Amino acid sequence: MLIGVPKEIKNHEYRVGLTPSGVKELVKQGHTVMIQRYAGDEIGFSAHHYIGAGAQIVDSAEEIFARADMIVKVKEPQACEIAMLRAGQILFTYLHLAPDPEQTQGLIKSDCIAIAYETVTDGRGGLPLLAPMSEVAGRMSIQAGAHCLEKAQGGAGILLSGVPGVAPANVVVLGGGVVGINAARMAMGLGAKVSIFDVSLNRLKEIDTQFGPQLTTLYSTTDAIEVALASADLVIGAVLIPGAAAPKLVSKQMLKLMKPGSVLVDVAIDQGGCFETSHPTTHESPTYVVDNIIHYCVANMPGGVARTATLALTNATMPFVLAIANKGWQRALNDDIHLRNGLNICQGKVAYAAVARDLELDY
Ligand code: NAD
Repeated sequence: MLIGVPKEIKNHEYRVGLTPSGVKELVKQGHTVMIQRYAGDEIGFSAHHYIGAGAQIVDSAEEIFARADMIVKVKEPQACEIAMLRAGQILFTYLHLAPDPEQTQGLIKSDCIAIAYETVTDGRGGLPLLAPMSEVAGRMSIQAGAHCLEKAQGGAGILLSGVPGVAPANVVVLGGGVVGINAARMAMGLGAKVSIFDVSLNRLKEIDTQFGPQLTTLYSTTDAIEVALASADLVIGAVLIPGAAAPKLVSKQMLKLMKPGSVLVDVAIDQGGCFETSHPTTHESPTYVVDNIIHYCVANMPGGVARTATLALTNATMPFVLAIANKGWQRALNDDIHLRNGLNICQGKVAYAAVARDLELDY
């Protein structure tokens, strides 16, 4: 199969759909890979690395879209990319179609086969191509929060770990899923005092078994959160109700319970955020202050560590890229119900029930 990787064109997107080692694997299995010049330069994957892995370097996205059987990307295609898609061409990338009627219509019109990373499933009911970005964002949330706690950033002037003779900071994590446990792990690694809240008792049991007494698990109620806020230095918002807006667990009123200079990091901001006072921010201007509390609400946190995020994402996507390349999309999807769940648009029709329902389209 001829596989093409265009350079990402969304603002400040430095991730890339295939790494040189992914290219090497595909070439070894008899495929041809085209990489657009400069696609990975910003994160240390230059033309030299890709050529060494056996890729062809091409100068324009137009050439990739005109020739490739399968396009492998990171972000949803932008309007100018959708215009270049061809009938029968496979597109494998994040799509997030449900809130995006324009993109959906564009993909329908293109007659392409669009397989979305975010709806591919695994045998345990998880979303294996979303999880790596939650791992990255969860770990990064502590790094971001620690920085915000510094005086120069408006924070209370607290070092998460403390030092001998000085107590460590209190970190509160709301939500014990992928983001939450990665945040907790990172904060514990730094020596902070960490508690984690969830509404699933099973989840809390699993976390307790995994981490032991070093991590306090708490059932998530407004009362319990209010008590925790009073002594918290850093609060991480990591809740998710699949397919729904994040529940507002901390109201504006509740900020008054917190110490001035404390920090809220709302990782759940991409689902509307779990603090009432959250609104999306960017890597250029990540924070703002409400009632003396620093808010960090960057909606695409993994973009800040694009090299790590690319490696984590492609580790998860590669087996599927290889399956599609080796078998062709029809057999690859027939053989694997989990990859089949990734099919969102198929040659002019919506192929994913939730997208059809949300956008009131035929399915
Ligand atoms: P997940 O499904 O693995 O975990 C969510 C957890 O929240 C679950 O354990 C659930 O039981 C718990 N929960 C639900 N309601 C709760 C409540 N009222 N109180 C406490 N816990 C509650 O999800 P995840 O992968 O950890 O993702 C969490 C959020 O982070 C999602 O909104 C995701 O989209 C977002 N995210 C954002 C970024 C970013 O860059 N900002 C990156 C990755 C993920």
